[in-house]
Amino acid sequence: MTESPTAPARLLEGGPIAAEIRAAVAEDVATFTVTRGRPPGLAVVIIGRDAPSTVYLEQILRGCAKVGIAGRFVELEGQATESSVTAVIREVNDDPTVDGVIIQMPLPPTIRLRTIVDCIDPSKDIDGIHPLNAGLLRLGYDGFLPATAHAAVEILRRSGIEIAGRDAVVVGRSAVVGMPAAFLLVREDATVTVCHRRTRDLAAHVRRAEIVVVAAGRPGLITGAMLRPGAVVVDVGINVVDGHLVGDVDFESASRVASAITPVPGGVGPLTNALLLTHLIRAAERHSPGTVAVATGEPT
Ligand code: NAD
Repeated sequence: MTESPTAPARLLEGGPIAAEIRAAVAEDVATFTVTRGRPPGLAVVIIGRDAPSTVYLEQILRGCAKVGIAGRFVELEGQATESSVTAVIREVNDDPTVDGVIIQMPLPPTIRLRTIVDCIDPSKDIDGIHPLNAGLLRLGYDGFLPATAHAAVEILRRSGIEIAGRDAVVVGRSAVVGMPAAFLLVREDATVTVCHRRTRDLAAHVRRAEIVVVAAGRPGLITGAMLRPGAVVVDVGINVVDGHLVGDVDFESASRVASAITPVPGGVGPLTNALLLTHLIRAAERHSPGTVAVATGEPT
């Protein structure tokens, strides 16, 4: 198969979209702070500062500080156990100055994810990991979305890429990225196939797709030779190869076949962080007096 020697793919950059979102959030935060007498609050529960995800979480806190959100680490002391983690989560659940909670992942192997996830107040679950929010998404109601999946679809919407009626393939079926991205694409009226590590002929599925969202954690999994010419590619993967950040898509070959593609870094990542802030302000507005503090809404 020959790759089409057409114009290079349009770069779908998350940075400029994220900057627009952050500017709007800063205004909302300022209004909230004046009218409620306190800033919106985020608690990031961390189970050890040496975990690789700490860098990402610090970035989120810096993003909060820039827009006036009161973000802080809540650090567990001593050996983390299920009961010590759930005790800390209950504390932030009960803290009226905290509107949103993020838990550092991955958890230590001795701690069950489900125990922790169940403990989060769904109205503070701004990264959509609680089963209630997962269920609301599945049913088409308006709960909190996992921010990465939200970003993967939002980057298409905000870049003016048509989704309705198009054939989409999502590579990866995790509860936090692949499946919620697939549900969101269905909600946007795409026809969606979900591929995973047991998919028999990944290339055949990808080749049919007009939109390809890749969240597998496998550098170079998707190459230009697998793509339908003109496909739109959203690369969610974040991998470190030889000290460099790369996605799951072989950018060099894919960008010669795709009509549009997200770079790594600079694509889905920056948008994820900005969208988390929008989830937080929404949670804060719901926690303000006179509103219902559970993430429900009208079916969309
Ligand atoms: P995960 O390991 O939980 O899930 C990976 C999924 O990919 C699984 O469903 C698996 O079946 C599928 N898969 C693995 N190898 C495959 C193969 N050879 N063919 C087809 N499917 C295959 O990972 P995750 O948490 O969903 O994260 C996926 C990627 O997204 C990772 O690279 C992660 O670092 C990245 N990520 C990015 C952001 C962001 O903000 N951009 C946030 C979270 C995760």
